[in-house]
Amino acid sequence: MPKSLPALLLLLPLLLVACSAEEGSAPAAAADSTVAARAAHEAAPTSTAAEPAGPLVVYSSRQEYLLKPIFDRFTAETGIEVQLQTGEEGPLIARLQAEGEGTFADILYTVDAGNLWSAAEKGLLAPTDSPVLEEKIPAQLRDPQKRWFGLSVRARTLVYSTERVKPEELSSYEALADPRWRGRLCLRTSKKVYNMSLVATLIDRLGEASTEQIVRGWVANLATRVMSSDNLVIEAIAAGQCDVGIVNTYYLGQEQQKNPAIPVALFWANQAESGVHVNVSGAGITRYAKHPAAAQRLLEWLASDAPQRLFSELNLEYPANPAVAPVDLVASWGSFTADPINVEVAGRLQAAAVMLMDRADYR
Ligand code: FE
Repeated sequence: MPKSLPALLLLLPLLLVACSAEEGSAPAAAADSTVAARAAHEAAPTSTAAEPAGPLVVYSSRQEYLLKPIFDRFTAETGIEVQLQTGEEGPLIARLQAEGEGTFADILYTVDAGNLWSAAEKGLLAPTDSPVLEEKIPAQLRDPQKRWFGLSVRARTLVYSTERVKPEELSSYEALADPRWRGRLCLRTSKKVYNMSLVATLIDRLGEASTEQIVRGWVANLATRVMSSDNLVIEAIAAGQCDVGIVNTYYLGQEQQKNPAIPVALFWANQAESGVHVNVSGAGITRYAKHPAAAQRLLEWLASDAPQRLFSELNLEYPANPAVAPVDLVASWGSFTADPINVEVAGRLQAAAVMLMDRADYR
């Protein structure tokens, strides 16, 4: 297993902004539209012998510097060029839908199974039969209908003040509704898909009535107004504004890189019951892909060892392929049992989760 901390340090300036940008603060740079795509198409070399000339076109809501180093490596190994068009997930999915059969997009790449599910339900992704992907990506991290595949994993779990909370006081997402946390909880806004997906899994497991009670308890326990990012939740705990929160693990990694002594730690939620809520970033081949064979080759390659490791290096995520170890900082958080539920529930119950959070006054 390569020691990648030096690489991580080199990447530090990028990492610091990586995720907030991934959240969609990136303007619709994807506005380089069909014209540019067509020009590139006509100029670029053939992807594979049997498919029309032109690069593989990837619509991505992930920031370019999270994916480009990985795609460059693919191009170096295969000779297949990849053109990355980045933008916010909503507009990208709408663009794909509007372009219909005429789209040049071969792959849609985004974060959160809720987004992938939504694109698939709109009929924008084609099923891919791939024994390679089915072998390398665990079944709960990909669409049962084979329209998208998780390629990296993020865990959403509890964080706490190491100065004011003992880990023995923590147990589960549900227990953060307990009155003992009154005035001590920080949460990110319910408008973020990450929280919709987490609540969707609670609904699936506990039913709507119990989940609503839990979410009402969270709201009652808030120390501050809801926040716009997971980083702010962690920083508020460090600053003493609140004592506990719920975040994706890579955000703590970012904060630890800025300040290794930050008095905030991870707690693996629900280890005695359902396991930690995990989600994916992932991709699917578009329904009207012009290079479906090359696109499948890229997805299969992304599930292999070196690119899987790069996902962990570039964004402090977990590889989706369980044969690949994460980087040292991520490994330092220890191992955990993940919720085995298929991440597609994040999409299937997303509308129910949104309505429930609204009823519970979770803003
Ligand atoms: Fe994120």
